[in-house]
Amino acid sequence: MQRLSSPGPSVDSSTGADDSDSDGSDSIEALVGVLSGRRIVALTGAGCSTESGIPDYRGKGRPPARSPIQHDAFVRRADVRQRYWARATAGWERFSQSQPNAAHHALAALEAAGTLNGIITQNVDRLHHAAGSRRVIELHGALAEVTCLSCGTRETRDALHARLLEANPEWLTNWRARAAASAPDGDTELPTTEVEGFRVLDCLVCDGALMPDVVFFGGTVPQEKVADAWSLIDSAEALLIVGSSLAVYSGWRFVRGAAERGLPIAIINLGPTRADDLCQVRIDAKAGDILPRLVSRLRLPLP
Ligand code: NAD
Repeated sequence: MQRLSSPGPSVDSSTGADDSDSDGSDSIEALVGVLSGRRIVALTGAGCSTESGIPDYRGKGRPPARSPIQHDAFVRRADVRQRYWARATAGWERFSQSQPNAAHHALAALEAAGTLNGIITQNVDRLHHAAGSRRVIELHGALAEVTCLSCGTRETRDALHARLLEANPEWLTNWRARAAASAPDGDTELPTTEVEGFRVLDCLVCDGALMPDVVFFGGTVPQEKVADAWSLIDSAEALLIVGSSLAVYSGWRFVRGAAERGLPIAIINLGPTRADDLCQVRIDAKAGDILPRLVSRLRLPLP
């Protein structure tokens, strides 16, 4: 296994306002130089899905951060759960109809060709699975599943969504008429008065409170997922970061671990990331533009 003991020379396409790379081909070659012939593991974030129409948190031009749902408040307070489910129900149809984009398809192609060992994703949208990726560790879970906080019974989000729509027919007509704006994690901005009229539903088995199968702020990533992610990192010869600011610790720790193991690191991200000083190559461009070019440069078939 080839390992680099230090980050080495870094190619930063954002600083290379160099006419010779006006089509980005030098950047692709730098990426190929770092990744070619190595077993790659990818770490993806919200930026991998913006081209599918799902907003990220920290991308350029985003409004200031909203106050996200906190794990403890969700578990303890019925009003917080009501706010969450009202907003999430308003956002679910749009979120769940999102389709994988060229970046997701390219990562699936790299895995199918045996070049990519797996994906550690911070995303909760299941779009890697939808693109055909097989080994995907969902660090923060997935909005497509719901779990009872009391008895642990699971329900699909689609099934719960159907029940919620039936229980809230007038509310549904109201928010649809106002075409509420979509927010990053599949929910929607709604006025408090709207939220207060929303009827929350409980577990079909024990009447316990239901929670989406995701890690809220202040929650913990399950130990077995962390262990799976470390074993992927241990299997890797290079780490490819796609669309993440790495501001969140649960993803960042794997980048730090990869650097400590001497793995070469490549980043495709619009804007700065926390790992810019650790990488060998950083391409400041859209993942949906760069990844298909990487696949075709490596002469691998796209699905
Ligand atoms: P982030 O918002 O902190 O960072 C996203 C980064 O991607 C930004 O630097 C942005 O400039 C960049 N970016 C945006 N579009 C891009 C594109 N087309 N190509 C390349 N880069 C692009 O996201 P994060 O680091 O994943 O952390 C946010 C947390 O919020 C995660 O833990 C995640 O669970 C959650 N989240 C998930 C989703 C989702 O499932 N799609 C969406 C929003 C937030």
